[in-house]
Amino acid sequence: MRLNPIIDSLPTTIFEVMSGLARETGAVNLGQGFPDSPGPEDVRAKAAEAVMHASNQYPPMAGLPELRQAVAEHYGRFQGLDLDWASEVTITSGATEALMAATMALLQPGDEVVLFQPVYDAYLPMVRLAGAIPRPVRLQPPLWRITEAALEAAFSARTRMVIVNSPLNPTATLLSDEELSLLARFCVRFDAVAVCDEVWEHLVFDGRIHRPLMTYPGMRDRTIKIGSAGKIFSLTGWKVGFVCAAPPLSAAIAKAHQFLTFTTAPNLQIAVAYGLGKAAAYFEDMRAGFARSRDRMTEALAAEGFAVLPSQGTYFLSIDLPRSGVEADDQTFCMRAVKEAGVAAIPVSAFYAEDPVRTVVRLCFAKKDETLDAGVERLARARRLF
Ligand code: PMP
Ligand code: GLN
Repeated sequence: MRLNPIIDSLPTTIFEVMSGLARETGAVNLGQGFPDSPGPEDVRAKAAEAVMHASNQYPPMAGLPELRQAVAEHYGRFQGLDLDWASEVTITSGATEALMAATMALLQPGDEVVLFQPVYDAYLPMVRLAGAIPRPVRLQPPLWRITEAALEAAFSARTRMVIVNSPLNPTATLLSDEELSLLARFCVRFDAVAVCDEVWEHLVFDGRIHRPLMTYPGMRDRTIKIGSAGKIFSLTGWKVGFVCAAPPLSAAIAKAHQFLTFTTAPNLQIAVAYGLGKAAAYFEDMRAGFARSRDRMTEALAAEGFAVLPSQGTYFLSIDLPRSGVEADDQTFCMRAVKEAGVAAIPVSAFYAEDPVRTVVRLCFAKKDETLDAGVERLARARRLF
């Protein structure tokens, strides 16, 4: 049968593969990034109340005004942005849809797109489906830094877009002020649009501050900022995303969105609008809770002889296999860990299209203490297999 070759050649995502194996084998799942807690009760209660008492018919295509206003207010309060909710905010079914709508709306065959490996697995197929050409920049452990020389090599007169993910999944690093300034300079110089996947924006630790690229010189009107309620409220299955961009970009993205999903569940939109209005203390406590889990897992792993790469944000930390005494590549380690030691993890090489780093394994620490402890004990068992 004739199939679209870009889709036909795709493997099943590593997240689904690992969660599937964990379900089959009963392994502790430290792979796919989701918390094993039910999420904030008041936000869930709002969604339940809305499904019983508010409209369950199609909301407006760009999202419920109350949610679009809440998004603009939230980013004004927490990130100093000045967004016009009516012309600059669109609600999507998750950040994934927002990314697809942005690539569909902006890219044409032959356009070049600069992105960074390790790369979130959805980006490359989206770029290729639009007929555009990915220009990947390879980042390396332990610092995963973007350099001016790498950008010089990747940008050209054909560059239309750069896709930036900070905090970065899977490396758990944040772009520095210097790297953000560098990216802004290149976008302006090459007249490129930045698609900023900021789904992890609230998950930053140790007093770090997330700075949106949109606030850098020359970037206000050439940045598409993408957020996700799934991450902000630890409700990853909700799939409520937000796109913030200058009016012409927002209008184009909304046109793509109208034929992807058109709209997003109204009760979830109402609950997310309520959640975004919460006091700063909620977000601080949420971060503190995840930082505590990160520290618990880091200490337990170190006690078992694992070398842990520091985590500045996200739900993830990584272990370095050779420095942990494991003489195997990340895929081999993860496959044997899930099948023989009962713990699922994510090989970071899955985030590379070419020349992968094969020495790093990503672990999700957004879990209850007992899950973390059981996971580390099984990882120690996996380490002894090598
Ligand atoms: N981008 C990144 C970098 C992610 O890590 C994720 C999921 N964790 C997404 C996008 C997808 O977000 P959503 O579930 O809102 O579609
Ligand atoms: N973003 C999640 C992760 O990195 C997975 C999302 C998905 O499975 N599509 O684990």
